[in-house]
Amino acid sequence: MSDMTIDFNRPTLAGNELEYIRQSLERAHLSGDGVFTKRCHAWLERRLGAPQALMTHSCTAALEMAALLTDVGPGDEVIMPSFTFVSTANAFVLRGATPVFVDIRPDTLNIDERLIEAAITPRTRAICVVHYAGVACDMDAIGAIAARHGLAVIEDAAQALMSAYRGRPLGTFGALSAFSFHETKNLISGEGGALIVNDPALITRAEIIREKGTNRARFLRGEVNKYTWVDVGSSYLPSDMLAAFLLAQFENAERLDEERHALWNVYHEALAPLEERGLLRRPQIPAECRHNAHLYYVLARTAGERNGLIAHLRTSGIQAPFHYVPLHSAPAGRRYSRAAGELSVTTDLSARLLRLPMWYGLGAGAGQVVEAVQDFFRTAHARAAATAGHVASKALARHRAWVRSASGEVLPAPPATPPATPHGAPPA
Ligand SMILES: *Cc1c(COP(=O)(O)O)cnc(C)c1O
Repeated sequence: MSDMTIDFNRPTLAGNELEYIRQSLERAHLSGDGVFTKRCHAWLERRLGAPQALMTHSCTAALEMAALLTDVGPGDEVIMPSFTFVSTANAFVLRGATPVFVDIRPDTLNIDERLIEAAITPRTRAICVVHYAGVACDMDAIGAIAARHGLAVIEDAAQALMSAYRGRPLGTFGALSAFSFHETKNLISGEGGALIVNDPALITRAEIIREKGTNRARFLRGEVNKYTWVDVGSSYLPSDMLAAFLLAQFENAERLDEERHALWNVYHEALAPLEERGLLRRPQIPAECRHNAHLYYVLARTAGERNGLIAHLRTSGIQAPFHYVPLHSAPAGRRYSRAAGELSVTTDLSARLLRLPMWYGLGAGAGQVVEAVQDFFRTAHARAAATAGHVASKALARHRAWVRSASGEVLPAPPATPPATPHGAPPA
């Protein structure tokens, strides 16, 4: 291995970012809803075929807007997975509602649609799905359940821009959907997000909530002659400079998507033999899902082996983090939410998952990551064999030494016992 450090993530300029930021400075419009914000709205609406996109300063903000628009309050329940980022739950907890966690599917790590109905109570108001790793939840089944029980569907599509389910873009299934342009996502502006309003009846109120509870958007369109405080709301607009940066990323979306898939495929092909030997499990993509190569994860056989692999990669200069600590097991999760059932798949898989570096320009670095993973299993295997065969190999070494000394050869130094490796716990 070389001494080069391989970061888990690195933000990249895709094209005209700096030029567009210069243009936004020249226009002297740095606050929200300038020319570049409008161009980002148009790009998203065209790309998704959605009636209204609204840029926000984060996906967290878009989820908070979705919670406000859904009118949930104390006593109301929102069904979601526990295997997700804190913002999915926080958005509703801020309104006084209770997240109810449902277990995930072992193949996609998305909410298990077969368990949703059992978690519905008279207080359930919405189902908030999360498309983990940009792979779609079963939106047919979830849409049918929501319709049957009169529940709103909200998509936390933070990781899912450019993904689709049965050919339809993710972010267009919920009444409301939230995207993220945080620097760890596929298309970025450092911090950034968007709320997609698919239910036309919610558009006017969404504009008001985003503009501090005022009807300023209508005023700017000349629909009212002054603007005033008409509803609850907050400040959710990003600066037009950030939209300028993001537009340049949008314009290169296809190329960036292809590069990401190329990297994802390098991992997927190179790790197939380890999966065949039962040493790890690779991501599984259902046939009806078009994913966006957002992240590449592997599942180790045990939590101990996962931790050992992370530590081994770290000593090779490779950052490979695990992912969510399930929300139901976190201190705030225990205080503000409840679990529907055992969540045993969530608990099991979250402890065995790690993510591999994935960013534009990683290139040959992906091969280095693969080698380090292969090396871990080679040395882990050797360690296990060394422990099991310790006595036998000592006897063999003594025998070999005796044969050599008998033939007059100079004795080599005794074979070293396996070194105390920094690889962490061996497989259980
Ligand atoms: C990244 C992410 C978020 C938060 O996005 P921000 O833009 O950083 O607020 C929310 N949910 C999921 C599933 C995410 O991956």
